[in-house]
Amino acid sequence: MSGAAASGIRFDEVTVAYDGNVVLDRLDLTVEPGEVMALLGPSGSGKTTALRAVAGFVRPASGRVYLGDRDVTDLPPHRRGIGMVVQQYALFPHMRVRENVAFGLKARKTARAEIAGRVADALELVGMSAYADRHPRELSGGQQQRVAIARALAVRPGVLLLDEPLSALDARLRSGMLAELARLHRELPDVSILYVTHDQVEALTLADRIAVMDSARLQDCDTPQELYRRPRTEFTASFVGNANLLPVTAGKRPGSVDFAGHPLTVDAGEAVAGAAAILCVRPHLVGLGAGPNTLTGKLAEIQWRGSTHRLYVDTAGHRVMADVRELREAPALGDTVTLHFAPEDAVLLPAGAGDGGRVLPEGAADAGRATTPPVLASSAGGPHA
Ligand code: ADP
Repeated sequence: MSGAAASGIRFDEVTVAYDGNVVLDRLDLTVEPGEVMALLGPSGSGKTTALRAVAGFVRPASGRVYLGDRDVTDLPPHRRGIGMVVQQYALFPHMRVRENVAFGLKARKTARAEIAGRVADALELVGMSAYADRHPRELSGGQQQRVAIARALAVRPGVLLLDEPLSALDARLRSGMLAELARLHRELPDVSILYVTHDQVEALTLADRIAVMDSARLQDCDTPQELYRRPRTEFTASFVGNANLLPVTAGKRPGSVDFAGHPLTVDAGEAVAGAAAILCVRPHLVGLGAGPNTLTGKLAEIQWRGSTHRLYVDTAGHRVMADVRELREAPALGDTVTLHFAPEDAVLLPAGAGDGGRVLPEGAADAGRATTPPVLASSAGGPHA
């Protein structure tokens, strides 16, 4: 669809507070024109608030919001040139699909002659042309959400805001819609998309970059690949994919660490000698047998996951996860098992952000202490789980 003015979004130190409680704390973030940025984080971390600040539904206590070069902080929502889709399709039940899609155009006083064409274009874009005369109640949830997306796109926005758009759909529909959204993005290369989700699979699948939010703050922002390979914080490491997070003490030699008396070597990340740090290594990068970094412990749990086995091994009071592909002879529970990982597959992270007992979502941090039973990985464990 042509006509969308490429603009991009910029948050400049945006702070939002409700009754004196800061729920978005000095957010600095730029979404480039044509980029898909996922805002990923647990419930209550401020994602929707950030999106609503762009839409104009909440007013920042301080800071500015820009769309392209325009400072829109003081503009009402309908003058910002954005499209928005929320979790609950929010279609008007008494209007047919084509009337729903035309709604924003009429509100903007688009010429009548132009409306029919724009509605047809938008419906075609989401594959709903055949349903123009239906009422929302005659559509499935997925179809309703497509219509909501068509309605948002009909005004040809430079910026599309999506707030958990798939969370009301069942798992099968969700994966279909994910593919649809990816296709839509390819067809609308100039539209910037800000995508709020707590689901890492959606973020990893769709986003060019992911902004990781926690406790009203931006924690990290990078491509999905970089966040996964080289997280900068313990929170990101546990929220984006599964991670083994081992408490270590940095040694004198760069990259040398001590894990409960075992010397280990890490290639990436830095820590001052003698300082506490966290060693992060992904389960699929931990192998069976001896190697450059060896850990030995008792097999506490084994789970078959189709293409891999996940081994949970208790070592030095910590439970280490290893995803092993080839397992000729499965070890028995209680057996002594040796694991290894390569220095280049581990990252050293700063210790002790102190999460104050925060409860991470299921699958976000299943590198539990040895005393806690392993959390069964959820589907949110994602393509890397
Ligand atoms: P997320 O989208 O990450 O789940 P939100 O941005 O919706 O988080 O909410 C962030 C915090 O702000 C939460 O603690 C929430 O309870 C609070 N909050 C959101 N909207 C309001 C409101 N209208 N009034 C008061 N508090 C709110």
